[in-house]
Amino acid sequence: MKLDALAFGAHPDDIELVVSGTLLKLTDLGYNTGVVDMVRGELGTRGTPQIRAREAQASARILGLKVRENLKLTDGQIFDTQPARLKVIRTLRKYRPGLVFTHYWDDQHPDHVHTSQIVTEACYLSGLAKIATGQERFRPQRILYFMLPRDVKPSFLVDISQYFERKMQALRCFSSQLYNPKSRGPQTYLSVPEFLPALESLHRYYGTLIQSKYAEGFYCKEAISIDDPVAFFMKRGRM
Ligand SMILES: [Zn+2]
Repeated sequence: MKLDALAFGAHPDDIELVVSGTLLKLTDLGYNTGVVDMVRGELGTRGTPQIRAREAQASARILGLKVRENLKLTDGQIFDTQPARLKVIRTLRKYRPGLVFTHYWDDQHPDHVHTSQIVTEACYLSGLAKIATGQERFRPQRILYFMLPRDVKPSFLVDISQYFERKMQALRCFSSQLYNPKSRGPQTYLSVPEFLPALESLHRYYGTLIQSKYAEGFYCKEAISIDDPVAFFMKRGRM
């Protein structure tokens, strides 16, 4: 199975928070998409790895993913080691995605920082023939970073207005992590009632930057080339 786009998130639910609208859109455009979670969430304050795995598969069905895998690294201890890099390299060579999404490197959570580093390095190393995994070498065309700090301007935004409701449906599959008035478990950043409205505000804010209702923002390290600037900007001709 060759994928067009593959998103690497540290924890099951990271992808739902910030990339799933774009994945839904890509699926609708006929592309094959996949998600790889680095850990099972065994350190999560709420829920268990088994519950998170079920939630991840339920969300994958809503997102129309062709693949959702878990690399089973250790939660809270994702480090840039050779075994971790090799797991990502094997995944890249197996699915050969042209486009890779992963965490932005400046983030409070060390697992997000290290996932960004491992995936970025593995994308390069995967193109080296002498790193032997028994597979053909492969290097993705581009890495797009998500979960940007608020003061980082996205390189571009994807209008997900049509997909926002389905994105939220996918996210709500992770009910163990989200606000539940009946739960007496300890609270987290995600489980307080203010979290989902704040997430919606972020997508609304990104939407206002491109005159749409909801958008997701991505950062790309390289310059982006446009073949036909007239066609490109006229299509989005509102001022
Ligand atoms: Zn996370």
